[in-house]
Amino acid sequence: MEIDPLTGFEAARVGLYVHFPYCLRRCPYCDFTIAVARRVPGARYADAVLAELRLRLEQRPAWAERPLESVYLGGGTPSLWGPQDVARVLQGVRGALPVSPAAEVSLEANPEVADAARLAGYRAAGVNRLSLGIQSFDAGVLATLGRSHSPLEAESAFHAARAAGFDNVSVDLILGVPGQSLGQSVADARRTAALGPEHASSYVLTVEREHLGAETVFSRRLRQGRLALPDDGAVVEMMDAVGEVLGGAGLARYEISSHALPGRHSRHNALYWTGGESLAVGAGAVGFHASGTGGVRTTNLRSTPRWLEAVEAGRLPDEERETLDAVALYEERLLLGLRLRSGLDLFALWARSGVTPRRTELEALIRDGFLEPVDQRFRLTTRGAHVHQELSARLV
Ligand code: SF4
Repeated sequence: MEIDPLTGFEAARVGLYVHFPYCLRRCPYCDFTIAVARRVPGARYADAVLAELRLRLEQRPAWAERPLESVYLGGGTPSLWGPQDVARVLQGVRGALPVSPAAEVSLEANPEVADAARLAGYRAAGVNRLSLGIQSFDAGVLATLGRSHSPLEAESAFHAARAAGFDNVSVDLILGVPGQSLGQSVADARRTAALGPEHASSYVLTVEREHLGAETVFSRRLRQGRLALPDDGAVVEMMDAVGEVLGGAGLARYEISSHALPGRHSRHNALYWTGGESLAVGAGAVGFHASGTGGVRTTNLRSTPRWLEAVEAGRLPDEERETLDAVALYEERLLLGLRLRSGLDLFALWARSGVTPRRTELEALIRDGFLEPVDQRFRLTTRGAHVHQELSARLV
């Protein structure tokens, strides 16, 4: 695992993302690539993932030149995948590619399918980090989000993870839910802190009016005036209060939505924030590799049946392939690097990207209290973090 020179942040440089698209039902705010299924074809999906991995390695053998430093099984609901299938996939990955002995191997689990035996199976398969999609400990907030677990199941899932031997557990929380109060979000942070995870994420609920042409239940209600989201000021208050409670428990904010004990940040997410390369397999999975001074981003077929059909016929399941030049990569590194509390070495980034330094804009952002210097890097102040996207745009 290397230290990224631009952010001083330890991150995987090359990782594997495996998308598991199945969920028991679609949550009303979800616009991810998922497939609703009562019966999950776990073994068939595992075979297809390994088949795509072989195809990707034939297409770009360079993936096997450097050991994977992270493997991330995300979804969807990967904890619907039987431990034996996960074990087979991880074994297949190790057979096809070098994997660093210190690799972070994460799996996302939903509390309603996270019993001790299942989690112990994942641990035995080589998963060493569990990300629990708890979202809230408040029954009302969970009901609004359409989640099928109860607050009690959320806590039980955490204890089950510990009983299964996981010493690296992350808890996901959602803020800015319709009807959610500041008190409820603080109570969620307190319950999270009381459990003592190594990591917590606090995402703000985003409701897009349209996404890839398909609306979510929430975006339709918003458009029809039937959904009231907390206003921006209330969400900012929640973010600050949650950060304070988690920080008080040792879970320091290290990225706009992420908090961790020292040394326990997500190496895989850090790969995305620092421009690392990711091989991606599974329906809708998005991968990236460097190419010259730019890079290539590939997106797999988002339809699970079409993805299965392509892979099983021995075809690469590409839906999109985007070539990024050095300027496009600069914009991404800027946007993502500024999310980190460690800051971003803007002058080094400008030099590396061949971009003219934005000195005047930088000075204005510092003068107005949005950015602050830390050593040779610059980072967003608390105020700046709330308007991160607008600020990044000013440096493009
Ligand atoms: S469980 Fe997660 S991935 Fe599945 S529908 Fe709900 S939000 Fe989307």
